[in-house]
Amino acid sequence: MKTLLKNIAHLATFDDAGGQAGREITGASVLIDGNVIAAVGTDAELAEVGAGADRVIDLTDHVVMPGMVNTHHHFYQNLTRVMVQDDPLFVWLKTLYPIWARLDDDANRVSSRMAMAELIHSGCTTTSDHLYIMPGDFRLDTCIEVAGEMGMRFHAARGAMSRGESKGGLPPDSCVEDEDAILTDMERLIGRHHDTADHAMTRIVLAPCSPFSVTPQLMKDAAALARRHTGVRLHSHIAEVLDEEVYCQEMYGMRSVGFAESVGWLGPDVWFAHAIFLNDDEIRHFAETGTGATFCPSAHMRCGLGIMRAREMLDAGVVVGLGVDGSASNDTSNMFLEARFAQYLQRVAPDRYLSAQPGGRGGFGGTPTAMSTREALWMATRGGAALLGRDDIGQIAPGKSADIIAMNLNQIGLAGAERDPLAAMVMCGPFKVDQSFINGVQVVADGAFTRIDIGAALAEHRATMRRIYDA
Ligand SMILES: [Zn+2]
Repeated sequence: MKTLLKNIAHLATFDDAGGQAGREITGASVLIDGNVIAAVGTDAELAEVGAGADRVIDLTDHVVMPGMVNTHHHFYQNLTRVMVQDDPLFVWLKTLYPIWARLDDDANRVSSRMAMAELIHSGCTTTSDHLYIMPGDFRLDTCIEVAGEMGMRFHAARGAMSRGESKGGLPPDSCVEDEDAILTDMERLIGRHHDTADHAMTRIVLAPCSPFSVTPQLMKDAAALARRHTGVRLHSHIAEVLDEEVYCQEMYGMRSVGFAESVGWLGPDVWFAHAIFLNDDEIRHFAETGTGATFCPSAHMRCGLGIMRAREMLDAGVVVGLGVDGSASNDTSNMFLEARFAQYLQRVAPDRYLSAQPGGRGGFGGTPTAMSTREALWMATRGGAALLGRDDIGQIAPGKSADIIAMNLNQIGLAGAERDPLAAMVMCGPFKVDQSFINGVQVVADGAFTRIDIGAALAEHRATMRRIYDA
């Protein structure tokens, strides 16, 4: 099956041709053959090769770009949005842990479905999810099944918490698992679901939750297990909040990054969410070891955590991608919004400029040159793909996976923005996609989901939320 997308008003490929968004083409066509992109060029260049397409979609007045890659999330948290709005992270966690402990695998299924629907609707085609709490009959397999139903490319991170309060950890003992059982399940999931092939729809990631909720031994054992397999990456939280640094100093006598290194968790197969409190040496060390990082600007602002030094990290050569983070610490899951906040937050990062200002000056400084829209979108596409260890997604080029989104420019919020429609996707809006292809399958057509009944999914989600709260 060949599909030709033609008359594209503005195509941003994010390929290797140079520039932060790769080759950008006005009046473009893309030919999809099965699950792979076969050809990219101007309408004239593809007229001949596209003539034999089985299906033609006219994308006049549309911006087209690669589907975005979300590298940090906790799907189950969309059952507990807008809770604990004004407390520090450790209070936020301790309030929510007992509520999350009431969830079951049905709740896992409906929350995963809603999370993926929200992501797909807002331009994401590949996501990771970090499932670190396994109450009741929770299974990561369920999230993978839902991804299959939705047609979403999925890197499923088998998270874990094993150090409860009685052993000096933050979570209550009722929320943690036995370490042998965790490792057994990790190995089972790799054997059952991990696909190393190009264009794979499912890969497994091993992801003990954080320095304050697991033991160093579990970190070491998970790393060893991952490294016995091809393409199994490691993911965790790090340097998310200064309280974590205090914990690591008291518990291990080192900073968070030192702790990660001590358990074998720096390397090209590791990416961390947050990495806010990194000093210059630690940023250099991330770059030298190939360790990656996910910037979650909404959650960093929402929870008052701080500002990741994404500019310095990118300049040092650290791979940085974007993540929406869990729905309880972001409350929305929209990659265009994360790209906007990533860009704007780097522009006002106070530490960088405040020190240069003469004393007594009111207000924080900033500079509009700190990050461009295209660089923010690069993190949302190529950066995310690199964190997940993939060179087959995040760009529109021959041979790459056919993960493509299209947004309609005929919207009130885009009036007057046609001189730079790609930047408008971030600086205006955020907007929903009109068309989304994942692995060559159209999962959104004219703004509507093709594979799920979203009305039924919303009703089921509401009923589940009420059941959990009434329990
Ligand atoms: Zn998180």
